[in-house]
Amino acid sequence: MTDILAANNAVADTLRRRWRQAGIFTCNLMGSPGSGKTALLERTIAALAPSVRLAVVEGDLFTRKDADRIANQGVPVVQINTRGGCHLDAPMVEQALQELNPAELELLVIENVGNLVCPAEFALGEDARVVVLSVTEGADKPLKYPLMFKEAAVVLLNKVDLLAYTDFDMAAVREDIASLNPHAAVLPVSCRTGAGLTAWYEWLRTKIRQKKSPV
Ligand code: MG
Ligand code: ZN
Repeated sequence: MTDILAANNAVADTLRRRWRQAGIFTCNLMGSPGSGKTALLERTIAALAPSVRLAVVEGDLFTRKDADRIANQGVPVVQINTRGGCHLDAPMVEQALQELNPAELELLVIENVGNLVCPAEFALGEDARVVVLSVTEGADKPLKYPLMFKEAAVVLLNKVDLLAYTDFDMAAVREDIASLNPHAAVLPVSCRTGAGLTAWYEWLRTKIRQKKSPV
């Protein structure tokens, strides 16, 4: 396992250098199946494109259902099928990049395989990790899957439109995330209604600007 991670990190470092040269901000988007990662991307594309030049890499075990949803919005997208593999690794992303032109991009979002466990172990050269946790999954998830939340720059608490139908404890989950990772931005949102998403778009715009002209 140590060797696998070392080999992965070497490729991730290469990707990170490439993105720094090109001035592209990259996000590794993670979360459980059904948490709303692709719905978040659809909203984000509708809000940011075409003023932000972005592309998406879609990781899934099988099918190109998510990639088709993104392609429908007219954004460049590359599908990676892991054929049963439960996470993306840096070599897979490196290969997918051959189909994109980094010189044309400001933002690249990599939607990882739906899984709260091992995607957190594999660096993809990303600038930021973004985790989507939906309120229907339960407030116990950050403490049960700590690595995923420890390294997240942003945690989006999705499906807040369903909050009244759950026992999700918003205050407790904020406290748990803060105990693991005091720097994470925690944003309650609904990708169905659009509630709360302005803060996410602003976060992204700021990061894209900073990456293009580093201080
Ligand atoms: Mg998806
Ligand atoms: Zn895995």
